[in-house]
Amino acid sequence: MSIERNPESFDNAPINWVPAIVLLSTPILAIILVPWYLWTHGTTPAVWTAFAFFMAWTGLSITAGYHRLWAHKSYEAHPIVKYFLLLGATLAVQSSAFDWCSGHRTHHRHVDDEYDDPYSSARGFWFSHMQWMLKKYPSGQYDYKNIPDLKKDKVLTLQHKYYGLWAVLTNVVVVGIAGLITGDMLGTFLITGLLRLVLTHHFTFFINSLCHMIGSRPYTDENTARDNPVLAVLTWGEGYHNYHHYFQYDYRNGVKWWQYDPTKWFIATLSKIGLASELKRVDDLTIKHAEVTMQFKRAQERIAKGGEPTLDDRLNAFKERINAEYEAFTKTVEEWHALKAKSIELKRAKLSSKITEADERLKAQFAQVEAKIRAHSEHIEQAFLQLKGKIA
Ligand SMILES: [Zn+2]
Ligand SMILES: [Zn+2]
Repeated sequence: MSIERNPESFDNAPINWVPAIVLLSTPILAIILVPWYLWTHGTTPAVWTAFAFFMAWTGLSITAGYHRLWAHKSYEAHPIVKYFLLLGATLAVQSSAFDWCSGHRTHHRHVDDEYDDPYSSARGFWFSHMQWMLKKYPSGQYDYKNIPDLKKDKVLTLQHKYYGLWAVLTNVVVVGIAGLITGDMLGTFLITGLLRLVLTHHFTFFINSLCHMIGSRPYTDENTARDNPVLAVLTWGEGYHNYHHYFQYDYRNGVKWWQYDPTKWFIATLSKIGLASELKRVDDLTIKHAEVTMQFKRAQERIAKGGEPTLDDRLNAFKERINAEYEAFTKTVEEWHALKAKSIELKRAKLSSKITEADERLKAQFAQVEAKIRAHSEHIEQAFLQLKGKIA
């Protein structure tokens, strides 16, 4: 899909009435009604428990469902899981799976493009956060050509066709059932229904707005996507958005052991109990290679920037060190590519008797390359410290 690059088509876009009313009225209602209810009626632990459960269910349904399962196909899910996630995602009122995934695939493909990215951060915080849904902008009119796989799914087709009805019914019936269980119908509708809906909306929207503005870019600076640990906490792990834009088919967004990515843990747990399969993951070496390449890029930028005369000696030493390291790195990468070619050849040849032996040897060689790439990374860090005068 390519949009006519005409500013007027954006300026004169007609209002998208239903989303505009829903998205503008629900936060206002929540801000007024929730405190009023808490003040006049109080609430019970049961209502808050239901709220927590619905936050987790609908939040994970967007991240593990709409996003990682349907938009990116980063794993396969058992039908039970699919229906559970589809119901949760419908409760989240973020449009149909067709709309969400078609728009999201376009976002990845044309990220930051003012005309083609439906929630382009090039148009500023407000546009990428929610304005893109309030009017019928040309970038938001999907032709669904990029979701042929999803169009084959009968249940998703039905959800798309009757989306409005599904969204209202699930929020009335499912939240109503929760109200019967908690024994506080109005409180459940306001807190588990309305407040949860508004929070889940804006936490998701933050990924398109703040996560393209604030945070680090360890893997690529070719787009605005950032890694932001605070947003990861609010969004079940989706805050590692720089990684995600670089390796979008990985079922993980936070790939380091210390990174908070409950969606990844959820999918991994499903896989352990046989409810998910074919989890796609990028190997550690490829990830580290991307990071080191970025480190070199930063070092080159620092060199190009130059420095004050007093810094000249140190900057020259830095430049020499980085250039030598880069040469060594190029050799390591060549070694790695040769190993990859060998590994593919080996798999193709299927030398059944010798394969395990050769495999072991290859594994050891890959580990060596990985150690080298990690060493390059440390050397760049040291060179930066030296440049800053923090080490001699
Ligand atoms: Zn993005
Ligand atoms: Zn994505």
